[in-house]
Amino acid sequence: MTIDLSKIPSVTRVLTEPGVVALKQRYSHDFIVDTIQDVLSSVRSNSIFQDMKTIVSKVEHQLSQKSKRTMVGAINATGVVLHTGLGRAVLSASAAHAVHEVARGHCILEIDTETGQRGSRQNHFTSLLTAFTGAESALVVNNNAAAVVLSIAALAGGKEVLISRGELVEIGGAFRIPEIIAASGAKLVEVGSTNRTRLSDFEKAITPSTGLILKCHPSNYRIVGFTEQPRVEDLVSLGAKHDIPVVNDLGSGAILDTLEFGISGTTTMSTALKSGVSAITASGDKLLGGPQCGLILGKAKVVAQMATHPLARAFRIDKLSLAALEATLREYQNMESVRNRIPTLRYLSRTIAELELLAAELELAIKEIVSQLSIGITTSESQVGGGSLPGEMLPTVCVRVSTGTSQKSANDIVYLLRMNSPAIFARVHANAVLLDPRTLECHDFATIANALSRIEME
Ligand SMILES: *Cc1c(COP(=O)(O)O)cnc(C)c1O
Repeated sequence: MTIDLSKIPSVTRVLTEPGVVALKQRYSHDFIVDTIQDVLSSVRSNSIFQDMKTIVSKVEHQLSQKSKRTMVGAINATGVVLHTGLGRAVLSASAAHAVHEVARGHCILEIDTETGQRGSRQNHFTSLLTAFTGAESALVVNNNAAAVVLSIAALAGGKEVLISRGELVEIGGAFRIPEIIAASGAKLVEVGSTNRTRLSDFEKAITPSTGLILKCHPSNYRIVGFTEQPRVEDLVSLGAKHDIPVVNDLGSGAILDTLEFGISGTTTMSTALKSGVSAITASGDKLLGGPQCGLILGKAKVVAQMATHPLARAFRIDKLSLAALEATLREYQNMESVRNRIPTLRYLSRTIAELELLAAELELAIKEIVSQLSIGITTSESQVGGGSLPGEMLPTVCVRVSTGTSQKSANDIVYLLRMNSPAIFARVHANAVLLDPRTLECHDFATIANALSRIEME
């Protein structure tokens, strides 16, 4: 069907409609005009006639859609504790409170209350970090990628950086060690082979231009079979002999030993420092359970070298993350309650017995209002995630949702859960949607049940 284009109203005409005039209370004139233009051009290109009432309601709907916040909360039923797409670590209540407080007013960021003189924003956590890790000194930047760039730039700018071929990692697509080294103004020297690198390989690679020996945790892969890497202690001795600093990029900055959660393959920050390295770098929003930031811990002289490099200013941590980090670290001042108060640790420490209870509770909430979908309980595995530990899985108990007498496939269900408001993320396994309570809070259960009830009606 073709329409008479001359019948399409002008923007000026639509602007005079009472329904549109009322919108001026909420939206600016230009925003309304742009939206009217969008609506009219879609009427024109679809060649479907629409009366004024429909046009006005479309304008209203589009304005409301366009002004919705997109960075909103979501429900993580994937069981992936550190889910990069869902914002990695969930902050503790005290960290969230601290962020709120310093966001809503002025704050003591870089000022000494006693003297009124300018201070350093680093003072808020230096003593906490050094106390928990045994480091001589600490510096916090924007994220761990920045911490690595700063370490290389400050210690080895214009020089050569030695790294084992088995540790040329790529994390999350954009963090690739060879590119990070190049961007830091240093030259990469690959040492050894992918699976086997010996201390003698490092020794042979040292030249007068060597500025740094870098170690990098293979956070998202594992080399198995016939493998060998020199001990960090031996790299440190070698470095000391030639006056070359050694930096260890840990990736995940744990204070607690994750073995207690059944997770192997990580080193706590204090253990990593005991090897004698010049510095370690780590993320604040992985196993530490804090905000996005990059921790640099190590020898006072080395950390000072980094702190005074011009990039330190470019990578400076912002006041909101700083508030969250300080509050997160203060949770570790009470080692009895920290596992309960930091969500990342709480999720990791959930036992099978607890997960069984949570799954049963979620199942019950769903079964009360859902009748067509088939609901049950199944055992499965949760991932730690966040590029923190390669393939590290934790046993879990999930609620299993499948087609039942509805017409919905598992892929339909998982899609519709994502389209829910708030969005609910789950995983599909063997033709069913699995809801993993490991990463859920009890107050999510009713929301999930309601969403499933709407989905089976659709
Ligand atoms: C995660 C990770 C990074 C990047 O840290 P961000 O805080 O995301 O910048 C760097 N190195 C390793 C080994 C990592 O695991």
